[in-house]
Amino acid sequence: MVAERLVSAAEPVTLPFAWEGSLRKVARKRVIQCALSRICGVCRASLGRPVAFVGTPQEVARNEFHFPPLHAACADQLCAFDAADPSWQVVTTSGFELVRAGRDDPDPEPRFAPNSLLEP
Ligand SMILES: [Zn+2]
Repeated sequence: MVAERLVSAAEPVTLPFAWEGSLRKVARKRVIQCALSRICGVCRASLGRPVAFVGTPQEVARNEFHFPPLHAACADQLCAFDAADPSWQVVTTSGFELVRAGRDDPDPEPRFAPNSLLEP
């Protein structure tokens, strides 16, 4: 008798460094660590230039990203995951600022504002 092999779409995958639980959710502490130490949110290695950010079209339009800074290659890798959102876009910048939410900020999560976007 051959047992049916169960393959679930929810099978755990190894998430990148700054993510927890799913590919849609980042670990706030690690995101902050990436920003302050200038390390990549996927591979944890030091960031150079350009720095890449992955976000939804809304985040791109607002120029504020919740995902941590990444190497361009790591951003591509992130978007290639099966669980990645197909709407995600990658932008590159030579610098960014960490925006911490204020007390009355409707968005309580820390985020990143690229300050010198590069042409794709
Ligand atoms: Zn990286």
